[in-house]
Amino acid sequence: MTTLASGVKTFGNFIDGKWIPASSGNTSENRNPADNRELLGIFQRSNEPEVNLAVEAAQAAFRKWSRVPAPRRAEILMRTAAILEERKEEFARDMTREMGKVLKETRGDVQEAIDTAYYFAGEGRRMFGLTTPSELPSKFAMCTREPVGVCGMICPWNFPMAIPSWKLFPALVAGNTCVIKPAEITPLSLMNLMGALTQAGLPAGVVNVVTGHAHEVGKVLTEHPLVRAVSFTGSTEVGRIVGVSCSHTFKRCALEMGGKNPMIVLDDANLDLALEGALWGAFGTSGQRCTATSRIIVQKGVYRRFAEELAKRAQLLRIGNGLDENMDIGPVVSRQQMETVLHYVEIGKREGARLACGGDRCDNAGCGHGFFVEPTVFTDVEPKMRIAQEEIFGPVVSLLPCNSLEDAVEIANGGDSGLSSALYTRDVNRALEAIAGLDAGIAYIDAPTIGAEVHLPFGGVKQSGNGHREGGVGALDFYTQWKTVYIDYSDRLQRAQIDRPE
Ligand code: ADP
Repeated sequence: MTTLASGVKTFGNFIDGKWIPASSGNTSENRNPADNRELLGIFQRSNEPEVNLAVEAAQAAFRKWSRVPAPRRAEILMRTAAILEERKEEFARDMTREMGKVLKETRGDVQEAIDTAYYFAGEGRRMFGLTTPSELPSKFAMCTREPVGVCGMICPWNFPMAIPSWKLFPALVAGNTCVIKPAEITPLSLMNLMGALTQAGLPAGVVNVVTGHAHEVGKVLTEHPLVRAVSFTGSTEVGRIVGVSCSHTFKRCALEMGGKNPMIVLDDANLDLALEGALWGAFGTSGQRCTATSRIIVQKGVYRRFAEELAKRAQLLRIGNGLDENMDIGPVVSRQQMETVLHYVEIGKREGARLACGGDRCDNAGCGHGFFVEPTVFTDVEPKMRIAQEEIFGPVVSLLPCNSLEDAVEIANGGDSGLSSALYTRDVNRALEAIAGLDAGIAYIDAPTIGAEVHLPFGGVKQSGNGHREGGVGALDFYTQWKTVYIDYSDRLQRAQIDRPE
């Protein structure tokens, strides 16, 4: 790592405990989306040779690391958590400058990594296997969890420390070694996490970071024959490509993809609570969460009141640089993202939805050099409109009227995705009906679609995922494989299914 006269650092890849430049000599700038004039760092734009080096380092480290007793591996996670706690404010500020979300949210992102480290450190003394009776006498049967090998991890930019921690910490406690790629635009937070792991005593080569672009790094990782598992979080389109690529070498592959998450508000709901939840769910992280509330399905009796009040309150949200503690919403992550969001606003207008507020680039003082988009509410949206079907990943929410709970659940389920969902009602029977009826991996009652806790399974159904879960003990199922062990202490040949003792 070198520092320029301007104070801007140039980061290498972190491979086998050393800083390694891209052999191509190419680099990328990391800039602040709240003020694009600010340069945070220069990162390597790597290619196949760096991925190969990293995978080989991980493969070499695997032999030793996989034999370290799990409780010892867990101690490193415990120390990592403590270091992250000490440096939480510094890392949160770096993250706000790197990807824009407001400080209270980036503190939450670092906290999520801390929680994940403590949780999986605990697993170091659990990681339970199975014992079960054998069908034969004097024979013992058990299953133990073994690490899978070198794991490749491909990350998005919206949770630049939390998501890498979801992938790395269960993999590490289980004894795997890792090659991880941050999103092109948020490498700094992953370098901060890597720094904490190294300071905590993680041996060289156990985690390797390769920065760079989708095809030059990500694709190579999914194709590398020594990589045994790939964990990906990102868009459904890319997830499909990653899944196909992994299948050629029969890699395990966990895909965490997009959503079009519905919130249902019934006539009997506590409207103030639902409005507060809608603002947080739709506009927190500028709507750039895979669990963001993007469709609000409101029963007709309260629809008009809810729509008017939501638009009114959305316009009161304070937009600006996330380092300012008074702000509610920061910028979207990049110019490209801003253009995508504004393009969807045009689509919504063309489709005939009513623009109740927002819809434009924000021109507040101090926003001129950033990518700020006004919180946007569309009302009178039809279920088949593109703005009600496609993931926008920005501060845009669609309101759809419904007649009943049944109608609402049908609208909610009418799409390809199924990540998160929410319902506001005071009626416990209707709440339980909805929980059973919603096609989603996550359901909230009287809370918005965002707010996952690290010790519970996280993931979606339909095209939001491919059946795996992050978070909780389910993550260990992905990062371990079963070894089935039979111990025959009868001192004679016993044949299963054939020798059937009376
Ligand atoms: P986002 O819009 O959140 O960046 P993407 O799905 O485009 O979502 O990207 C998520 C991650 O996947 C990024 O790290 C990106 O570089 C990586 N990626 C994109 N295309 C590919 C690919 N074909 N193979 C492997 N990784 C990819």
